[in-house]
Amino acid sequence: MNRGTGIEWTEATVSPMRGCSRVSEGCRNCYAERWAARWSARGAAFHGFVDAETGKWTGRVEIKPQVFETMLKTTEKRVFVNSMSDTFHESLSDHAIAAVYGVLISKPETIWQVVTKRPARAYEFLRAHDADDCLAATRAVLAKQGGELPERHVRSWPPANVHLLTSVEDRASAADRIPPLLGTRAPVIGLSCEPLLEEVDLSPWIHALKWVIVGGESGSGARPMHPAWARAIRDQCVAAGVPFFFKQWGQFCPAMMQTPDATWLPDQTHGPALMVPWWPRRDDVGRLLDGRIWSEYPKR
Ligand code: SF4
Repeated sequence: MNRGTGIEWTEATVSPMRGCSRVSEGCRNCYAERWAARWSARGAAFHGFVDAETGKWTGRVEIKPQVFETMLKTTEKRVFVNSMSDTFHESLSDHAIAAVYGVLISKPETIWQVVTKRPARAYEFLRAHDADDCLAATRAVLAKQGGELPERHVRSWPPANVHLLTSVEDRASAADRIPPLLGTRAPVIGLSCEPLLEEVDLSPWIHALKWVIVGGESGSGARPMHPAWARAIRDQCVAAGVPFFFKQWGQFCPAMMQTPDATWLPDQTHGPALMVPWWPRRDDVGRLLDGRIWSEYPKR
């Protein structure tokens, strides 16, 4: 369990899975892959999960049962699950995903925030399984390490304490991912539009969403986010009454005046925006959108 992560919309992160592979433009500067590459030498935690020469994910993904007991003891209210992987990765068996879900439903007082770029797999999994399947899978995994599940758990399915989000970075990913996400019928369905790479019209789906997060990209090679793209999503959320969370600008923020390092970011609809690189700030300034902080959360 990693507390004080700097991810503004959660209190802690936990990674009961390890490994991943890229699926779209949103993965181009994958933070998890870069981090894992540092620990990919023989004997290190990510050996075999990242190619030591290329620094890229190998596609191997596994669950980490040793993390389950920590998750069952957490006192955090909101926890982001698998910030370093994807809960619905194609390399994972249904049994492995069920074992993780069994942990989530055994902590009813915690909101587990699952963000996936593979909502079609989430749809298939949630249709094919139920709470009993997941509890059985978790018990089987825990039994091998002498652990037990508590008696209390969430019975509703899909579980009410698991907020299910998909990543949307552009129009193609919105069209691909939002329909299967809605099909899961999870009680709280949302979007993580980060890194937002172009303007996205959410109007076909906005009334079914319970939460939308928007953020720019950070780190080496980060791509700037035009202010109009963030405003457009904010305005759609406000009009539809959907909670909106502006995470942060990322590596570039709107510039007030031309400076030597400022550049124009083109946009055919809204015109160019002057953007300046800066060190991403997780304080109030880095989170301001038109002079306001947006930190809305979905209702449980
Ligand atoms: S799905 Fe997430 S963790 Fe996996 S490669 Fe893409 S950005 Fe990285």
